[in-house]
Formats: sequence, C-alpha cells, structure tokens
Amino acid sequence: MTPAQAERIAQFRKMAQDDPENELGHFGLGKALWEAGEFAEAIPAFEQAITLNAEFSKAYQYLGECYARLGKRDKALEVFQRGYEVADRRGDRVPRDEIAQWIRQLGGQVPSPQQTSLTSETATGFRCQRPGCPAGPFARPLPAPPMNDELGRQVYERICADCWRDWLAMGIKVINELRLDLSDESGQRTYEMYMKQYLGLE
Ligand SMILES: [Zn+2]
Repeated sequence: MTPAQAERIAQFRKMAQDDPENELGHFGLGKALWEAGEFAEAIPAFEQAITLNAEFSKAYQYLGECYARLGKRDKALEVFQRGYEVADRRGDRVPRDEIAQWIRQLGGQVPSPQQTSLTSETATGFRCQRPGCPAGPFARPLPAPPMNDELGRQVYERICADCWRDWLAMGIKVINELRLDLSDESGQRTYEMYMKQYLGLE
C-alpha cells in the first residue's frame, strides 16, 4: 500500500466514523480499501453503504467484485444479481453493464434488462450521475455551473440540484472536521477530492 492510499483510507475512515449515517463515507472508505487491494476489509464498508442506501448500484458492483476477487463466487453472484436489478431499475447503465460483465465472467446468468434504450427519456430529461442519487429519474439540473472552471462545468453537466445542495452541506462538515484552509492550495485540493468522491466525479 502506498502512503497516499493509506492516507486516503484514514481520511475516509474518519469520514465514515464522524458521519456514520452517510453512505458515501462508507462507500469512499470501501473504495479506498478496494484501490489498495484490501478486498476483505472493504466488504463491511460497502455492505454498510448498501444498508444505508439500498439503491446504491455502484456499491453492489464493488462489493460483488470484492467477493469475486476473494474467490467467493456464490456470494459474488448473489450480490451482482441484486445490484443488476437495482442498477437496471434506476437506469444506472454503467454499473449495470459492468455488473453484467462480472456475472458472465463468473459463469452466471445475466438477467434480461428492463431498461433497454440508451436514449430512453427520464421524467425531467436530465440524468444525475452521482452514484445513489436519490432523485433518480426526477433529478433536476442546476440552473448554472456552480463554479467558473472545468470542475464547475462537470458538476453542471452531471450532477442534479439536490445532490449539489447535499454536497454543500457535507462540504461544510468536511472543512470543519479536517480543519481545511481553502485559501491554501493543499486545502483546496483536499476539498475538491472529497467533492469528487461525494459526487462520483472521478
Ligand atoms: Zn442527484
């Protein structure tokens, strides 16, 4: 494990402990452990994210992958089947298709998708790409990019108004808990790292 990976794990562990009801802290912790190859340790973090938000399709994807990489095929397939249904119902096509690949690779039966067309309309015509966005097909876009840079443009194109509002509340906690100084470049970087993680913009 690299020092950067260890630091990331420590930061998300703190976030998950300080705000235990927030599934994204647990998901971030799971992902940081997953990136460091700590699949067994990542499992309870992803499971907690799913307990808090059963619609979190990406968490099923990573959880199933942890089981698969640990050689627990049956458990992996069980998680992937559940994740596939959630992702398909929500129209989360990237996790759905990645889960389908895993199911095939493990020799399982991929369920037939209910959401077929890539251009299928959502209720508002806008799709929020934050993993586990609670607004689903009713997501509303932001009225304008929230920042005047590349990141602001990405947020505007991919993130709904509700998720952005949630992040602003979360961002204040992050600043306070980590005592970030946003006038400082490293403080700004850390803040943006949490923002991207929270919004799924990586
Ligand atoms: Zn959203």
